[in-house]
Amino acid sequence: MKVLVINSGSSSIKYQLIDTKTETVIVNGLVERIGEEKGILTNKTFPDTDAQTVTKMEKTIADHNAGMRLAIDLIVDPEKGVIKDKSEIDAVGHRVVHGGEGFSEPILITSEVISAIEDTVPLAPLHNPGNLDGIRVSMELFPGVPQVVVFDTAFHQTLPPHAYMYALPYELYEKYRVRRYGFHGTSHKFVASECARVMDRNFEEFNCITIHLGNGCSMAAVENGKSVDTSFGLTPLEGLVMGTRSGDVDPAVCAFLHRNKGMSVEEIDTMLNKESGLKGLCGMNDMRDIHAGIANGNERAKLALDVQTYRTRKYIGSYMAVLGRVDAIVFTAGIGENDDVVRRKSVKGLECFGVKIDEVVNAQRVKEPLRVSTDDSSVQIWVIPTNEELAIARATKSILSEK
Ligand code: ADP
Repeated sequence: MKVLVINSGSSSIKYQLIDTKTETVIVNGLVERIGEEKGILTNKTFPDTDAQTVTKMEKTIADHNAGMRLAIDLIVDPEKGVIKDKSEIDAVGHRVVHGGEGFSEPILITSEVISAIEDTVPLAPLHNPGNLDGIRVSMELFPGVPQVVVFDTAFHQTLPPHAYMYALPYELYEKYRVRRYGFHGTSHKFVASECARVMDRNFEEFNCITIHLGNGCSMAAVENGKSVDTSFGLTPLEGLVMGTRSGDVDPAVCAFLHRNKGMSVEEIDTMLNKESGLKGLCGMNDMRDIHAGIANGNERAKLALDVQTYRTRKYIGSYMAVLGRVDAIVFTAGIGENDDVVRRKSVKGLECFGVKIDEVVNAQRVKEPLRVSTDDSSVQIWVIPTNEELAIARATKSILSEK
């Protein structure tokens, strides 16, 4: 079965065509800067595992419709395309950031599902409109092809009320659904279940702490295969220190900035989402640049790394308290998979809780799951590459096979 996975953001569309039988990627592409003067399309095809062909185009891409059509014209071509006809695409799987309280599982798209996603736009104004654009265009381009949506919030719908409620006036929850939702759910579930698999454990009886450190960063406490707490909240801003997002701050900072600096709600929102985090602390949001800065004696870069890893360590400690028994701590995503210094600093000082990292193994970089804890560590520490696209393709396949 060939599944086209679409991750449509506000100004970009990421897509992958996946063969679900072999779980291999046939095409991997990105349409960027939609709506700007110069749009970019990068399309990589993998006719076999070793070879790849890269096509890059720069031109104005007016909207999601134009972007998706450009990509499809490259993929589907009777002569030059990796597939000769659109009918070879069996299903489309979409990533949607916010599913509100209505969705705890992937679901086949119907008009009711689309209106339910529209209803959650106020909760995710930065993400859901772009996701919906992708769905609409894809339904137009592939009429009659089953389309499935996988929500970033779904895995966290098992959080108990004491973990998802904020201590705010209760009517804010009743009227506006203000609560913790959590995101990155597809990734947390994927690496948690992968970890259970490589440790030869039954996922339904497996407890772990998953740490997704990419541009966005979040953690989850997973008990018996279910998410019971997570660091993202109403929006993907709460919790860990991220590339440009602040993570936890005293909420009173917002009122302080409004009163003393005259900042508007929009300005504060932009500052917290786009100008804070690692970038706010040291001017750089890519961890590789931060390490280079530290090597050159940049004190702010060192501070940014210290603040980020200290925050992660505090969350690990709190999730150990949440879970009681922890079988594994799992690092994933761009920083989590590649940055041994961040991993080492994030678990530093937790030896007394049975968390011991093997610094030699930890310094290795591999593309496969790797255990980086010592043999006598009672909590195993793992690096597990995430693969949200594959998770979406698998979910799409499984929904269709249930039909
Ligand atoms: P996204 O959240 O956009 O999916 P990724 O998971 O790809 O992001 O993570 C991107 C981030 O990972 C980059 O901003 C960078 O900080 C970090 N990163 C990528 N490669 C490395 C590396 N080799 N060492 C340290 N950090 C890395």
